[in-house]
Amino acid sequence: MAWFKRQSAELEAPGEKKVKTEGLWVKCDNCRQIIWKKDLDENMNICPKCDKHFRIDARTRLAQLLDDNQYEVDDVNIASTDPLKFVDLKPYAARLKAAKAETGLKDAVLNARGKLNGRPVIVSSMEYSFIGGSMGAVVGEAIARAIERAADTKTPIIIVSASGGARMMEGVISLMQLAKISAALARLDDVKVPYISVLTDPTTGGVTASYAMLGDLNIGEPGALIGFAGPRVIEQTIRQKLPQGFQRSEFLLEHGMLDAVVHRKDLKNYISRALDFMADPVRATA
Ligand SMILES: [Zn+2]
Repeated sequence: MAWFKRQSAELEAPGEKKVKTEGLWVKCDNCRQIIWKKDLDENMNICPKCDKHFRIDARTRLAQLLDDNQYEVDDVNIASTDPLKFVDLKPYAARLKAAKAETGLKDAVLNARGKLNGRPVIVSSMEYSFIGGSMGAVVGEAIARAIERAADTKTPIIIVSASGGARMMEGVISLMQLAKISAALARLDDVKVPYISVLTDPTTGGVTASYAMLGDLNIGEPGALIGFAGPRVIEQTIRQKLPQGFQRSEFLLEHGMLDAVVHRKDLKNYISRALDFMADPVRATA
């Protein structure tokens, strides 16, 4: 027999319970420290304790690269037609709808025109949270158009990749984008307009296999996963253990696959100096 019985289910502390702490703190999955979200935001989304570069969305990237967060957005009216009427766990059309609602974007890339340290540039910034930043017809077309705009206006282009690769739900149409974008880049090369590729965590599959590795300068962010197939698939295929740090920026730099690994805080100035050099090598090095 109980001595007493609690009448109401829970004790209430008036006023205090309304405070919500959710989303104020973030756990760094590298150093496992708890970081105040505001500290992380103010530090360009880099862990203040261990320097891990967190993934950032397309708009945050544009804000970090372009002067005063001022830019014009292009190619926002291209939309996927779901040509294969693809259904896996749920219909592709439903996935697209959910991704649009979540990110406020039409697809996994945002094309912008703005200035970088005073110099006009075109930036295509990929959005990883839109179906894993995958490249279907829309991403391919948007990036091809950005490159063509760069060629026509002789404006340097920067493509910031964050992608799981080609978009499975559009099958061969996704794969066609690799060739289309590569052809546009060849034309850009003919007219001698610089293209800087920034590879962020993660850049894999068909994106690595096409434009991400075709920059005049290929720059990786520290610790970014960059590769074609995933490490597990490679290990199973070659039946060998992969070396430590395989497919990370630093490893790729060491093995000649990247030109530089640049800290996010230095990225804008690094690109600026590189463009200065490409525009006028004599003056830039004088
Ligand atoms: Zn950390």
